[in-house]
Amino acid sequence: MASQLTARPQDIPLENLYNLLEPITVAPTKAIFTNWAKTFICAPASVFEPENEFQCELVLELARREGKVVRVAAVGHSPSDLACTKEFMLRTTKLNRVLEVNTEKRYVVAQGGITLNDLHQHLEKNNLAMSNLGSISDQSLAGVVSTATHGSGINYGVISTHVMALSLLLADGSRVTCSRNERPELFMASLCGLGATGIILNVQLEVEPNFRLKEVQKSLPFEEFIQQFDTLAHSSEHSRFWWFPTKDTIRCSYSNRTLEENRPSGSWWWNTLFGYHIVQLLLFVGRYFPIVTIWTSNLACWLSSGESVGIDDSYKIFNVDCRYPQYTTEWAIPYENSQACLRDIRTYLQKQLQDPSGVRPHFPVEIRFSAADDIWMSPSYGRLTCWIGIVQYKPYGFNVAYRKLFNAFEEAFIRYQGRPHWAKTHPFGPEKLRQTYPHFDDFVNVIDSVDPQKMFRNEYIQRHIMGQSIDQRIFKKPA
Ligand SMILES: Cc1cc2nc3c(=O)[nH]c(=O)nc-3n(C[C@H](O)[C@H](O)[C@H](O)COP(=O)(O)OP(=O)(O)OC[C@H]3O[C@@H](n4cnc5c(N)ncnc54)[C@H](O)[C@@H]3O)c2cc1C
Repeated sequence: MASQLTARPQDIPLENLYNLLEPITVAPTKAIFTNWAKTFICAPASVFEPENEFQCELVLELARREGKVVRVAAVGHSPSDLACTKEFMLRTTKLNRVLEVNTEKRYVVAQGGITLNDLHQHLEKNNLAMSNLGSISDQSLAGVVSTATHGSGINYGVISTHVMALSLLLADGSRVTCSRNERPELFMASLCGLGATGIILNVQLEVEPNFRLKEVQKSLPFEEFIQQFDTLAHSSEHSRFWWFPTKDTIRCSYSNRTLEENRPSGSWWWNTLFGYHIVQLLLFVGRYFPIVTIWTSNLACWLSSGESVGIDDSYKIFNVDCRYPQYTTEWAIPYENSQACLRDIRTYLQKQLQDPSGVRPHFPVEIRFSAADDIWMSPSYGRLTCWIGIVQYKPYGFNVAYRKLFNAFEEAFIRYQGRPHWAKTHPFGPEKLRQTYPHFDDFVNVIDSVDPQKMFRNEYIQRHIMGQSIDQRIFKKPA
């Protein structure tokens, strides 16, 4: 066995390869994968949980010999079937170590499977922090990079813009490093690579000195918000907005770096009992009596209506409570089109609310920003971006109607040159993607050159990037 651990994977006899993989093979009873939102489910032929890079190489070797697809999946927070496969799944949850922290040059090197929550703890100990974050920190670092996950801030790019270098395990078993200077094409493809360029082993990430954020929240009528849109978007380092359509009210959040002492806002009673449990119960009742959904949205709007100020560690302010499993769609709209797009959506929603059998949206519609970047497949490629996202919650995990509502939103997003969030469900295939991403063909060329065997092309990649006709619902969780 010792000699096999030093042998090249391609020299290991098949029987021995199976033996070596056995300890990291997940038992079939535990091998079902469901995403966080409980909207997609798959039963891969085999699921592996490697603890080191050599074991990753062994998985790829077996896949090569058996002609299998390998989908890397991390913690499964993508709301689509992006992480699903019927073939081999390689889960990175045990590849979660911090390898280097450089406080002087302000960067960290960590394995791709580390969660942002764990990364924050390591950074904090070294008086460092990530510059921007999305709504949660449960995702893995490589998952966030592979989907160009974003936070909010008119001068802040998607999280991938902070990546300095990546180390990848390619389909042929070779380990390579890429950055803006070394294999730049592979780097630009992998910064939003959707798991299709290789396994991200390590990420070198630029960070900044640890900081606190002071967040001021207040509410505004929609009309006032839309008239002052540009000023409000630019009025803090991290402005973001939550729109409660039933009350035509926008909850505004403005966050800036501060040296003031911690002063967390909110109370358990308010946030947990009312904000979480009672709202969930009402959303559940709304499945049967749609009028209740409107009252629930109004209640949620009222619960957060006063002005509030909170000061806390940056990641605690960046992150919010995303509540219950949910259907969601989110699109990146060119900033200059966003006001018109929001007005169109409002007209649609008002019509629906006046119609006794109209669709009943949950809340809130989220509005955020990211700076233009040069990452080939980043939805912010080449343009200042306004992200608009909606959710329909699944109270207690039960399904709710959402398709009609999402179709109407998607039509508006497409009219205003939107690009879909890669981790969320969307209808775009290669034709549309080629029109909106100038480097789409470069991306496909990189995938072809580093993965000629098509090992990393799961159903999502085949459908959306390669244009094969694979049903959107293939992994949809049954009602
Ligand atoms: C509650 C919630 C809140 C969210 N908030 C935001 C938000 O604020 N902003 C935003 O932009 N998005 C947000 N998302 C989406 C989320 O950030 C992305 O879906 C992210 O990719 C999830 O990371 P993950 O670790 O769960 O990856 P998974 O969902 O497991 O995988 C995502 C992709 O990354 C690839 N991948 C993962 N690890 C590797 C690796 N080591 N090597 C190569 N490829 C890899 C997978 O193949 C797949 O293509 C949210 C999702 C949820 C559920």
